[in-house]
Amino acid sequence: MAESTTQKYDVIVVGSGASGGWACKRLAESGLKVALLEAGRPQSSANFSEHTPAFELKYRNLAPEIVRKTRPIQSQMGDVCNEYTQDWFVNDIEEPYTTPADKPFNWLGRLRMTGGRTNVWGRVSLRFSDWDFKAASHDGYGEDWPIGYKEIAPYYDLVEKYVGITGMAEGLEELPDGQFQPPMGLNCQESVFRDRVKQKMGRTATLTRSANLTQSLNGRGPCHYCGPCERGCVTKSYFNSAFTTVADALKSGNCTLISNAMAFKVLMDADNNRARGVLYIDRITRAPREIQARAVILCAQSQESTRILLNSANSQYPNGLANSSGVLGHYLMAHVRSAGGRGEFPELAPSPSLSAPIKPLGIYIVRFRNMKGNPPFKKFLRGYGFECDSNFDFNWGAPGFGEAYKKAIREPRAEFSLTGFGEVLPRWDNFVEIDKEVKDVYGIPVLKIHMSDGENEKAMIKDIAESAGEMLAAAGAKNIRTRANPSAPRWAAHEAGVARMGSDPKKSVLDQFQQTHDIKNLFVMDASGFTSNPCQNPTLTIMALCVRSCDHLMDEMKRSNI
Ligand SMILES: Cc1cc2nc3c(=O)[nH]c(=O)nc-3n(C[C@H](O)[C@H](O)[C@H](O)COP(=O)(O)OP(=O)(O)OC[C@H]3O[C@@H](n4cnc5c(N)ncnc54)[C@H](O)[C@@H]3O)c2cc1C
Ligand code: SF4
Repeated sequence: MAESTTQKYDVIVVGSGASGGWACKRLAESGLKVALLEAGRPQSSANFSEHTPAFELKYRNLAPEIVRKTRPIQSQMGDVCNEYTQDWFVNDIEEPYTTPADKPFNWLGRLRMTGGRTNVWGRVSLRFSDWDFKAASHDGYGEDWPIGYKEIAPYYDLVEKYVGITGMAEGLEELPDGQFQPPMGLNCQESVFRDRVKQKMGRTATLTRSANLTQSLNGRGPCHYCGPCERGCVTKSYFNSAFTTVADALKSGNCTLISNAMAFKVLMDADNNRARGVLYIDRITRAPREIQARAVILCAQSQESTRILLNSANSQYPNGLANSSGVLGHYLMAHVRSAGGRGEFPELAPSPSLSAPIKPLGIYIVRFRNMKGNPPFKKFLRGYGFECDSNFDFNWGAPGFGEAYKKAIREPRAEFSLTGFGEVLPRWDNFVEIDKEVKDVYGIPVLKIHMSDGENEKAMIKDIAESAGEMLAAAGAKNIRTRANPSAPRWAAHEAGVARMGSDPKKSVLDQFQQTHDIKNLFVMDASGFTSNPCQNPTLTIMALCVRSCDHLMDEMKRSNI
């Protein structure tokens, strides 16, 4: 029997990452009483280690096997889940998921800390445009989103001003400009690449729009270029919901953070077809507990929120809560990010230094396939952008030893790398379901994930490598190498679409305000609702949509519809 809290809240928000943080801030600052259920433990700057050198760690960050013992999946992103940060991540053994034997899928970036993935994210913050929201109208594949750019634009403005995004305005319809802080500037490799690729190919490479401050904002300091944002930031110079939106919500006095609370299912008042609360497991005591509210918002990350809905199946909704359409769990999308290229610009390399400032972002090449002014590309639908890194380093791999080696290692290396991020089409047969045979340590049935590359992704991967090689050559790079690997099983941590939005309740789970069509006081405000997964990184849009949906929720409450 689950113990129940007596306090009644207005809203329960599940998950404190990018979406949950904004939901709590928006609602609590407006006066609603919010309970924030977060599976992870609290985050604090005492956990941040961006200034800790590896030699201060017990294993010098050189023993990945130690991390692999408990996090064999998460540690595959070794640059973010390592000896510094491993305990921010889910224990893969205790909280597994399954896949069919022939469809491996790495579900990476599963955090268990206040702030969720925003603790370790890459911070790339790009707007979508009507080329994305109305992509189905352009090429006939899939469904349009139930909103367009003009509906979300004011919310992009609002979120960007608060988050703090450094960027350069380019005036492009396909990648709308935002409310930018001053740009961090380009280094010489980036400037040369940008100019030559524009001149010779007409493509735009811009400073990556990134959630790193260049000016103080709300008590957060500007970035001081130390580098490893994925280990935290004591000056709060990158955006992490733990020390921004969630902190603001708590400061309002209207939000209660309940940590180590693993939501199991949404509880229903069947007579009135209303969500009445959430059943969760206390991860420390393993005791089940119930909490009640007027409305429930799931923000636990796409697959996690969908898992909660599927585990909430009851006699009225036998296939999962709010799943009268049968669409819940289907149309899983991620991003292709397994292709790209690298080259060198030896003439541009400065003398290497161990204490040089490190710019925490590079440049971004804007999508150019299947855009206005060009005939449709024959090989695939939609498109991709590139995230680029410019590295100046010592020649650590120099051969030899002694005096000759000491000299060779100081030879500067200037490497420039491009990684394509490509749109994955929504397909019915990429889906998640509950694995009835397997439970996590808390007794909650786990997900089984079915996902594979389609023909469109395979053709795109090949083209990403080819165009990376062409652009590096156009920019004058030497020693060019390209790569085109299958995307699966190592998908980018940008999953979306498993409870998609749409105007037709027979073909979608959520409406344009991420309110379930079936149950009026139940919302899902993470990327589950994405109708397609444009190649731009998703989080800025997750946050903007979430604020818009919270405003709608409050309007509905005022009108007593909820
Ligand atoms: C390494 C990495 C780099 C990335 N880089 C970028 C980037 O450059 N740009 C970009 O746009 N996006 C990036 N992303 C993705 C970005 O982090 C996510 O899109 C974003 O954080 C998703 O927000 P969310 O609110 O859906 O989930 P999250 O931020 O993941 O938060 C979900 C929260 O819910 C909690 N939770 C989960 N299940 C439960 C449960 N059952 N009960 C209670 N709580 C639960 C989790 O503990 C977590 O705190 C990156 C992700 C990773 C891992
Ligand atoms: S590089 Fe900038 S944002 Fe990143 S951790 Fe260092 S100071 Fe913070």
